[in-house]
Amino acid sequence: MFDKFREECGVFGIFGHPEAANLTYLGLFALQHRGQESAGIAVADGERVRVSRAMGQVAEAFDETALAKLPGHLAIGHTRYSTAGESTLENAQPFLIDCAHGQIAVAHNGNLVNAEDLRDELVRAGSIFQTSSDTEVILHLYARSRAPSVDEALVESISQIRGAYSLVLLTKNRLIAARDPHGFRPLALGRLGESWIVCSETCALDLIGATYERDVEPGEILVISDGGVRSIKPFPPQPLAHCVFEHVYFSRPDSYVFGRSVNEVRTDLGRILAREAPAPADVVVPIPDSGVCAAIGYAEASGLPMKMGLIRNHYIGRTFIQPQQSIRHFSVKVKLNPVRSILEGQRVILIDDSIVRGTTSRKIVKMVKAAGAREVHLRISCPPTVSPCFYGVDTPSRGELIASTHSIEQIRGFVEADSLAYLSLEGLRGAVGQTQGSYCTSCYTGVYPVSVPRDERAYQQLALKVVE
Ligand code: SF4
Repeated sequence: MFDKFREECGVFGIFGHPEAANLTYLGLFALQHRGQESAGIAVADGERVRVSRAMGQVAEAFDETALAKLPGHLAIGHTRYSTAGESTLENAQPFLIDCAHGQIAVAHNGNLVNAEDLRDELVRAGSIFQTSSDTEVILHLYARSRAPSVDEALVESISQIRGAYSLVLLTKNRLIAARDPHGFRPLALGRLGESWIVCSETCALDLIGATYERDVEPGEILVISDGGVRSIKPFPPQPLAHCVFEHVYFSRPDSYVFGRSVNEVRTDLGRILAREAPAPADVVVPIPDSGVCAAIGYAEASGLPMKMGLIRNHYIGRTFIQPQQSIRHFSVKVKLNPVRSILEGQRVILIDDSIVRGTTSRKIVKMVKAAGAREVHLRISCPPTVSPCFYGVDTPSRGELIASTHSIEQIRGFVEADSLAYLSLEGLRGAVGQTQGSYCTSCYTGVYPVSVPRDERAYQQLALKVVE
């Protein structure tokens, strides 16, 4: 409904707890913001792996009866928003197969850039695919491996995939976590008593009362079994490319990702933005919820008061049907309402985390002005988004990204703000600079750290030819 990059997926895994399925259900609740299209849990009891998947949010997908059918002491779970593959139940994860190495289930956060090439090879070699998801490729590679052990077969299959992956896998007696060598997506390791947990964000550990131990390292495979935790690092080190957008927008502010509090980074983005792009104004107003942390930082650094001049309705379900009648800006109004007593007669600095197509920003600026604001100065806590993502984030095509075809002044004119400014790339790098490692910033630069899928390669070659 809103003009945003769409979250990718959330993964959760637990080993060594009698209520593994119930805790996975709770963990997925905390990760719901990372995907709302489908949810699934696979559980194992030492003998057998069972899976349950359904369309919708976690609370819709599971009830007590469904959870009662998932006995076992180890489990994995997934909340999905489709970045590759259609939004259908057959594409809902975890996927479960039975092969020569035994049963294995997988849940994936990220996107493989060589999935199409691998899939073509596998199909030529006789594989029959059940889904249109890139994740299924991993299972086919595993099933075809002639390696003598489960661990070796896993290493062999994972070494063939490229791109972004934070994976959790489940066999009848093992929980396995793997993170790509660039570390695009977060993956945390935690403990609850004697149980081990892996999850996309630390907010899932908080919900179940677990403690954060460390991140699964880029390029690391963790095999958790009755024998303990075994760390395998089979890949040569690669330059780190943590997704900076996790800090800008995706992750919850109460999580720690890539070694730093998301709330702290996001507030810093606002502080730096205030120094880079001040405006003569009376009040700072966030576009909730995504602009709140940056607005707090902007207000703090500028000395202006921050007020909630827009109120968000949190109760719009996935199934909300937009009525046909022509109410102006209906799609925004159903989610946001202006507070006239805060906005009337004021010069407003409106803070948001990004502009994708520009259509929603335009409606919000109009709404704030219609509520009586004298001036609206739009400030964005990241640089202009000019390129699509191939590493697990759903983005519109390049041509639909307003900043790829319009200057900042043209965008200002389109959204009808009195002024518009974005955070600089240096400002963004400065805010995340204290975290561990280096960042992917491709959606702001168009420079990609890992080779892109073949469709994009064709596009880039065409673009090069045109430039030549
Ligand atoms: S392109 Fe953007 S959204 Fe995608 S991984 Fe890089 S920083 Fe994240």
